[in-house]
Amino acid sequence: MSSGSKIARSARYKGALYDATRMRRRPGHPYNLVVMSNRAPIRIVRDLAGERIEPTVGGVGGTFEHLLEEHGGTWIAWPGGRTMQKRVAMPPHSPKFDLVFVDLNEREVSQFYYGMCNQGLWPLMHYMTPICHFNRAQWNTYQRVNMNFASIAATEASANSIVWVQDFHLAITPMMIRARRPELPIGLFWHVPFPPEEIFRVFPWRRELLAGMLGSDLIGFHTRSYLNHFESACERILGAKVDRDRHEVLFGGRTVKVGAFPLGISYQYYEGLATNPRVRDRAMRLRRSLGDNKIVLGVDRLDYTKGLVQRILGFERFLERNPGAHRNVTLVLIAVPSRTKIRDYSDLKRQVDEQVGRIIGRFSSDGWVPIRYLYTQFETEDLVPYYVASDVALLTPLRDGMNLVAKEYVACHPGNEGMLVLSEFAGAAEEMTEALLVNPYDVDQIATRIEEALEMPAEERGARMTALRENLRANDLEQWSSNFLSTLSGSRALEQSAAAEAGAD
Ligand code: UDP
Repeated sequence: MSSGSKIARSARYKGALYDATRMRRRPGHPYNLVVMSNRAPIRIVRDLAGERIEPTVGGVGGTFEHLLEEHGGTWIAWPGGRTMQKRVAMPPHSPKFDLVFVDLNEREVSQFYYGMCNQGLWPLMHYMTPICHFNRAQWNTYQRVNMNFASIAATEASANSIVWVQDFHLAITPMMIRARRPELPIGLFWHVPFPPEEIFRVFPWRRELLAGMLGSDLIGFHTRSYLNHFESACERILGAKVDRDRHEVLFGGRTVKVGAFPLGISYQYYEGLATNPRVRDRAMRLRRSLGDNKIVLGVDRLDYTKGLVQRILGFERFLERNPGAHRNVTLVLIAVPSRTKIRDYSDLKRQVDEQVGRIIGRFSSDGWVPIRYLYTQFETEDLVPYYVASDVALLTPLRDGMNLVAKEYVACHPGNEGMLVLSEFAGAAEEMTEALLVNPYDVDQIATRIEEALEMPAEERGARMTALRENLRANDLEQWSSNFLSTLSGSRALEQSAAAEAGAD
């Protein structure tokens, strides 16, 4: 994003910090929403002018903002730091919902967020048991923080609220909310993978975690595979009865619906950006700055789940096998700094730095540098020119809940000029079967897929990209949220809630 628009965006939210009248339910809507997520869609900025809030909204966060603006309600989340504020009206110029902050002290940030969430559950969910750290004190803190969120939700929710919990950080809040507000419909969406039962069962508090999740009325996953894994875990670990045709789990005298709801992107938004003349101009300048070479693009957070080292080795193998590509093909690697305080992440950063440096040293010639490595985070408007400029997106996570970058990249090529090479272990691969799928552990196959993508005849490329785009257009972000909400609001619990409200009237 240009600095101009950055200023405009933050100005929009300046002065947002004030106690607001609560928006309980907007007229004409049968329910309001209580959204819960670990991180709030804002950041706290402190400067000479004092403390102010800046939005970090985009993608999925933007969708919840729109939903809340439409339905009214409350978004409960950790602001990512300490603030004196407890509640912010959003959007500030015409408040439609409240953003309520959950305060985490230093110990909670360390034990809940960096500990149990990032070093326990994150690697576990990505099937990476050898690097899981499990610790009783961290689990206790995880429970306490979840209870804190749940108590706020139970207080904030009105009789006609629907609660939508996001992700593994708050996995056991559904049971805790249900204990206080049994009548509320509660949905939980799992944004990360769910591992096979044999892997999941290494978690010392596996029963408590599953039981906590099953306080929901509906639990959504990105793919059928993750859904199947969850059903098996419920069956074998909890002894719950599972109806695999109806996708229902019977536990504790309740029926919980489970389903696959693949997360989509705002297709129109990305296509619109990609066809914007200013963005296209920037993309052209980018290509020129790289000597009009073919561009292979990688975009990821710097995370060990993303397969960065294997990808770099795959590109090296491609260069070894294709001397004709030297001085003609460049790998642009965008690695977004992530969880830098954690050892596994700083170790990975060192490995990536070393491999990139080694390959640059080995192959660079006549002013050509085989890898352009950008260790930074771009705003969407600055990222899209990279999507547009690239001939190939090379996205090879070892395991990924979905991989939105793959979808954004495809949406940014309405003229079919690009090609997607995608790990078969990304959730997106279950839908994006027309991409060139690759085993991210197979360095030779990565090299082969780069060759195939660069040499693909225009007709085949067009057919694959068109099919991919049609699917993305039909299953966009709005479709995802409305599918999830309509399934949830169709649940028995909503009827009970409506009955309770009618009784109260
Ligand atoms: N992204 C971004 N700036 C960057 C790189 C990535 O805003 O410099 C965004 C990207 O557009 C995508 C998200 O970060 O929406 C990454 O989502 P994905 O599902 O691919 O991976 P995650 O980081 O959630 O594991």
